[in-house]
Amino acid sequence: MKKIAVFPGSFDPFTMGHEGIVKRALNLFDEIIIAVGANALKKSYYSLETREKMISKVFQGEPRVKVDHYEGLTVDYCKTNGAKYILRGLRTSADFEFERAIAQVNKAMASEIESVFLLTIPEHTPINSTIVRDIIRSGGDASRFVPATINLKDYKGEES
Ligand code: ADP
Repeated sequence: MKKIAVFPGSFDPFTMGHEGIVKRALNLFDEIIIAVGANALKKSYYSLETREKMISKVFQGEPRVKVDHYEGLTVDYCKTNGAKYILRGLRTSADFEFERAIAQVNKAMASEIESVFLLTIPEHTPINSTIVRDIIRSGGDASRFVPATINLKDYKGEES
């Protein structure tokens, strides 16, 4: 049976940290679905469509990575797509506490699904989407924090 993992997140925008986690996880799973969460209550900078386009560009040569979006519970999305694993990245102990609660609740809701965590490489620890977004909004150059294949000038964000 194919080992499928879902990598859920906001990815607003997708960063080198996210890319690093997916690339390493390709050694562990047969297929990874990067699933952009559509959260009606959380205002995003890049539209869902733009985020999916950006991520697809990064993995265009890798057929084992799929890009999708979803609404609702991550465990329900996993079940619909035959995924038994939820992939998440850890940077700090704050990430750990946040992830622990989500993973334990997910486990209570769907015991057959395992959350798998990869610790980020030290160089990626300070990279987070909020800071990258702030740099972009303020007209700075954030290219070194996003995958080399993403040319930020090609994508327009939505001012809030
Ligand atoms: P969410 O809104 O669900 O936290 P994010 O897009 O911020 O979505 O992050 C998705 C996942 O990627 C989370 O598990 C997060 O901890 C992880 N992540 C974010 N930035 C990095 C990074 N620099 N290195 C490793 N993992 C990261």
